[in-house]
Amino acid sequence: MNQIAENIIRLKSILGEDVTLVAVSKTRPVEIILEAYDCGQRIFGENRVQELVEKQPSLPSDIEWHMIGHLQRNKVKSIAGFISLIHSVDSLRLLETINREAGNTGRVIRCLLQFHIATEETKYGLNMDEAGDIIKSSIDNGLHNVEIAGVMGMATYTNNLAQVRSEFRYLRHCFVDLKRTFFSEKESFSIVSMGMSGDHMIAIEEGSNMVRIGSQIFGER
Ligand SMILES: *Cc1c(COP(=O)(O)O)cnc(C)c1O
Repeated sequence: MNQIAENIIRLKSILGEDVTLVAVSKTRPVEIILEAYDCGQRIFGENRVQELVEKQPSLPSDIEWHMIGHLQRNKVKSIAGFISLIHSVDSLRLLETINREAGNTGRVIRCLLQFHIATEETKYGLNMDEAGDIIKSSIDNGLHNVEIAGVMGMATYTNNLAQVRSEFRYLRHCFVDLKRTFFSEKESFSIVSMGMSGDHMIAIEEGSNMVRIGSQIFGER
């Protein structure tokens, strides 16, 4: 068996049935992505629109593509026809654009609200108040072509595992809070996307149900 298949099988046995594995395929060529596909992986994540729209047409159409990187509004149109989940919604304007482009292609696009949980300045994301405002506005304005399906966050890149844990714990807390406030009887708000190659075990312990893993599947970039 090849190394990629081994890695995926090992990860899936660790994650179990309740945690969804997003194979992060950024920078990997189509042939390598197909190796993962051939051993059953169907969900792939990319962080750049340009790269995503170049690869998507030459890969099988039953792949679920996830956009995990920062998304500019003027790029939404080019992925709206096929994207399965956008992890990186960090403004109402972006959500409105996704809603409009999804409507133009007759789709409903699932989205996650990206939180800023790390101490690094450079990472995008919302705080609790901003996230609440976006959900309220999306309800009030009837954005029917998007479905807010949960939250996403990236922990600080650090060896301080206690800090990573507390950031993940905070994100999970935000999820529970938003669900209670806005979605009480709406099952669709259900995704907590947190955890990457280096920190997915901690993320799962803190309640992640979707991990985004690249280098532990495909090797170092
Ligand atoms: C690259 C990337 C990942 C995966 O990182 P690895 O360390 O290779 O697992 C996860 N999430 C986002 C948003 C990324 O950009």
